[in-house]
Amino acid sequence: MESVGGKGIFPGIVIGKPYIDRKKSIDVENYKIPEDKIEEEIERLKGAIESAKLEIKQLKDNLRGKINKEDLQILTVHLMMLDDPQFTTDIKKGIKREMVNAESIVKKVSNRYIEMFEKIADPIYKQRALDIKDISERIINNLVFLSDTYKELDGRILVVKELFPSELLKIYYSGVKLSGIIMEYMGETSHIAILAKSLELPTLMGGHNLFEIEWGDLIILDTSTVDSKVITNPDASTLEKYLILKDKFESKKKEVERNVGLPTVTVDGVRINLSINIGGRLDITEIERKNPDGIGLLRTELIYMDTNEFPSEDKQFKIYDNIGKEFGEDRPIIIRTLDIGADKKLPYYEMTPEENPSLGCRGIRFTLKNKNIFKDQIKAILRAAYGKNIKMMYPMVTTLKEVFEARGILEECKRELREKGIKHKKDLEVGVMIEVPSAVILADVFAQYVDFFSVGTNDLTQYILATDRFSQSAEELYDCLDPAVLRGLNLVAKAGREYNKKVSICGEMAGDEISVLALLSLGITELSMTPPSIPKIRALIRKINLKELQELKDRVLKSFSSDEVRQILLEYMNKIQGEQN
Ligand code: PEP
Ligand code: MG
Repeated sequence: MESVGGKGIFPGIVIGKPYIDRKKSIDVENYKIPEDKIEEEIERLKGAIESAKLEIKQLKDNLRGKINKEDLQILTVHLMMLDDPQFTTDIKKGIKREMVNAESIVKKVSNRYIEMFEKIADPIYKQRALDIKDISERIINNLVFLSDTYKELDGRILVVKELFPSELLKIYYSGVKLSGIIMEYMGETSHIAILAKSLELPTLMGGHNLFEIEWGDLIILDTSTVDSKVITNPDASTLEKYLILKDKFESKKKEVERNVGLPTVTVDGVRINLSINIGGRLDITEIERKNPDGIGLLRTELIYMDTNEFPSEDKQFKIYDNIGKEFGEDRPIIIRTLDIGADKKLPYYEMTPEENPSLGCRGIRFTLKNKNIFKDQIKAILRAAYGKNIKMMYPMVTTLKEVFEARGILEECKRELREKGIKHKKDLEVGVMIEVPSAVILADVFAQYVDFFSVGTNDLTQYILATDRFSQSAEELYDCLDPAVLRGLNLVAKAGREYNKKVSICGEMAGDEISVLALLSLGITELSMTPPSIPKIRALIRKINLKELQELKDRVLKSFSSDEVRQILLEYMNKIQGEQN
């Protein structure tokens, strides 16, 4: 029996079989190939190279006219490399000489090229090194990918070094039901964490040295407390204890969910708006069980991740229109335009590599540079919004100039639709996400030019505190309860009140109980969160006396540290929960 600690991302207790995905942990497998199978191995390699070429060609066709010519050029270079006889002959020769599997030789040969290019100071060669890395990964993926691997995951707890949102989506959409995830990677507000939460998957992040453990056949994943952990090969008494804990956990969860029909009102009668954050699909029965007031954030990039190409205007229109129809036409739906960059990648589009992608081309910066992609989406939203309560917002807005530029594109889209006689919403409300310090500082100016604010505290925290939201080394600095972040939020709330613009919070903070106390103390009354968080936040709000909580505002804002803030809020939490420390 062994126990490994980590950070619980979505609470639960799961007792079950692990599925250890070593693929990413040991890089690439290396095994011997008997002499009579060498030709077969070379054929396998050829197939993987051909598929890689096909993928790139399809990608290129798809992107033509949608992205800059220079970006498209990268794909042409990749195709040329895959056709380079020197590269492919080196691999074939390596397989014959060493009599090992193709993927290990692809890795070896490409590493040799990468090292060679990296030694040359000219930046052009650094780019070549990245290109080699890229195509070799493509070939290796094609070699190791087994289309039915997913089936083996059914009902299991996946143990993996790290997982991309697009991979989890693929597993999910293939109909396979994971029962939990354990990963070495840590990033509480990373998109993989957000996705795991919205899929209600008990998930543990930041587990150390997962691949040095004897996993055995049965494990316990406990993310129900702050002391989250996984226990391998549990003995009989541990197992018995956890069976009881699991039962208790499930009945408590059901009890909280029974709040569903009750209004989200504080003890002193203030109505708090609880909306949901969703990806591309809507499980309407599941969502209605939470009784949300609206969709506060529709992360459209998840729709883009679920296809093999940039979705067309028509395809997007159908998706947004369906969501609108299913969700009903009264409650608001805020559609966020494409937010890719940093950790959000599209399987069919290679972002131009840069040193600091979080500070680089992401969110509205990408869509403004790729106007055709932006226009397809805006038109789809304008059309779907016709006769519905749909609004649109832009991510990562940094300057007012971006707002004006986007407005110009929006007007162009309206004009084109009008000229074609296509129905669309003429007075679409447009808001911005407040996610970077400049937008906080200028909130009172932005408030005069947009219809509403939605604060992305996941990003805002990282940019205010200059701490990468995915960083492991500076993880302790990343804290949305830092007084600097709270003072920023206070400025935004104030600007909203001054100009009568709604301010809602759609970062992970909105679904965290202690943080919700901070937000409400600042006078924020609109929250948007992953659907599973709604019941516990509704239950909490029904215990709060807002007037009393707001008396803590000054103390909170004058605190020296997030620890002090947490202490103040915990005292209040204990008081309303009827407990004392
Ligand atoms: C945020 O940054 O808080 C946010 C909601 O956007 P995302 O997490 O998708 O970057
Ligand atoms: Mg964000």
